[in-house]
Amino acid sequence: MAGDQAIRMALFGPPGVGKGTQAVLVENAEGIAHISTGDALRKAVADGTEVGLKAKAYMDRGELVPDDVVIAIALDSIGREGRSGFILDGFPRTVAQADALDKALAELGTPLALVVNLQAPEDELVRRLSGRRVCARCGVNYHIESKPPAVPGKCDQCGGDVIQREDDRPEAIRNRLRVYEEKTAPVISYYAGNSVLRNVDASGAADMVFERVEAVLKTVNGQSVR
Ligand code: AMP
Repeated sequence: MAGDQAIRMALFGPPGVGKGTQAVLVENAEGIAHISTGDALRKAVADGTEVGLKAKAYMDRGELVPDDVVIAIALDSIGREGRSGFILDGFPRTVAQADALDKALAELGTPLALVVNLQAPEDELVRRLSGRRVCARCGVNYHIESKPPAVPGKCDQCGGDVIQREDDRPEAIRNRLRVYEEKTAPVISYYAGNSVLRNVDASGAADMVFERVEAVLKTVNGQSVR
């Protein structure tokens, strides 16, 4: 069972706002499990599992994968890895997912302590997404302007091929932003009546955004979230 010291939080925000980048920074700083439904789904696609085969077409188009599939993945990961705290990255993305998460955590007696809502202007989101590149082998992110690999097209960490995600192409980006407004933004209202929600300005460099995230992590309503 998660102890009182465990941090249980979710990172929320539109595609391209930097959830993955910030989640890795929090994971390293706080030593908690980083649970990314997007990473889990990409792994399922790469492994050719049944879930992966089902999810791929949705992901390539920038659509949401059906709730039942994603809820099962997220709750399973929380059960396996989240005992001493976790940061959810890209989950929940619909009100049904938020509801399922709340119910599961309430049953465990370990509710979310914090939902960080990352915010940035839309033109910055589009710039980040369209310039993003990723290592096809180890998943490390690059950006053609702000963080290019030392050798073009090759990963600095593992030498794998650095590619553009199918869903970072212009048509899919437009679709993801539309889907976010329609299906995911309403989750903010779901949490708005709840004191765990905190807005964080996610524009600018990743280390500056991380300082803002750490600041809210330290105190929620004057109380430590640990
Ligand atoms: P991400 O890496 O978080 O941007 O996720 C990539 C893609 O995986 C999304 O565009 C969706 O197709 C799918 N996905 C990830 N998380 C979820 C979720 N919580 N609900 C539905 N689909 C998801």
